[in-house]
Amino acid sequence: MKMKNIKDYNLEDLKNEIKQMGEKSFRAEQIFQWIYHEKVQSFDEMTNLSLELREKLKDRYTICNFNILKKEESKDGTIKYLFDVLDGNAIETVLMKYHHGNSICVSSQIGCKMGCEFCASTGINFIRNLTSGEIVEQIIRVEQDTGERISNVVFMGIGEPLDNYDNVVNAIRIMNHPKGLNIGARHISISTSGLVPQIYKLAEENIQCTLSISLHATNNKKRSSMMPVNQAYPIEELLQACRDYIAKTNRRISFEYALAKDNNDNLEDAKELVKLLKGMLCHVNLIPINKIENGKFDKSSNENIMKFRDYLNDCGIVATIRRELGSDIDAACGQLRRKNLESSTTIVE
Ligand code: SAH
Repeated sequence: MKMKNIKDYNLEDLKNEIKQMGEKSFRAEQIFQWIYHEKVQSFDEMTNLSLELREKLKDRYTICNFNILKKEESKDGTIKYLFDVLDGNAIETVLMKYHHGNSICVSSQIGCKMGCEFCASTGINFIRNLTSGEIVEQIIRVEQDTGERISNVVFMGIGEPLDNYDNVVNAIRIMNHPKGLNIGARHISISTSGLVPQIYKLAEENIQCTLSISLHATNNKKRSSMMPVNQAYPIEELLQACRDYIAKTNRRISFEYALAKDNNDNLEDAKELVKLLKGMLCHVNLIPINKIENGKFDKSSNENIMKFRDYLNDCGIVATIRRELGSDIDAACGQLRRKNLESSTTIVE
């Protein structure tokens, strides 16, 4: 039987596991401390546990420690990691440095099923969901490598986080726990292409994380042509789920809108967007679209992007333009794709 990765457990579940082994539950807190604070890579380093317990743990669990296959650093300080997830697959994770702290963009799946027309992840076959432990390991490994603390997490790497719901929510519980990575839930954002049933479910979880909705268009025809998921969950249903989410959680939603030249970037689109979002507790994040290889969408002009933003702000909808980080290393929004599958052919730089 395949052994479970100890990083897949949140603290409550690990306490239950430890109790079932006939040990006191505070041992689980000690294990958490070693993994998430000391960032040890083996049970042998957990020196306040008895030798006997360490052996028992080794018999039952693994500790997944990713190998860094590749690391690229941008002129602006952004770092893109390619991690070997230890089964022949690789994923990308991006570290972004802001004056308010370090932010990490994590992947939630190996590949993606959503098929968004403008996103580089679309060219990758869906392989599998990442486990909770593999999601948190991205943060641990980057903190270990840089020696710096990560204060913000965005689920904006490869994959659709709400399509891997249970593992993502469990990973957030591990990140969020004071004895885990101790990252405040308000500093964690889940970005979704709009899986409506999961948005209703998330509203019931009592997690204070930020929800970002990739909206990108203001009518169903255009949105469906950019994002196939819109055929299953059209704009009206999506926005109703958002209103419900806001009512339940009292949290502001962030709408992502990637501006593509002559597609969704003129003033008519801005007017439609205002009509859709008026009165909602929300914020609009405008992303200058990043052209992908053979992609049919081009970036809007700076002038159009600013006009779009100003129109929204004048109508009372808070809108900001996302800074483009890491574009020189293909680490900007929508540019992540799995490369260098074979670990034997890649070089750690
Ligand atoms: N699947 C999730 C999260 C991954 S993408 C989602 O769809 O939200 C993170 C964000 O980057 C999303 O808003 C996505 O629509 C956006 N994005 C994808 N490709 C892009 C591109 N080429 N240019 C700009 N933004 C892009």
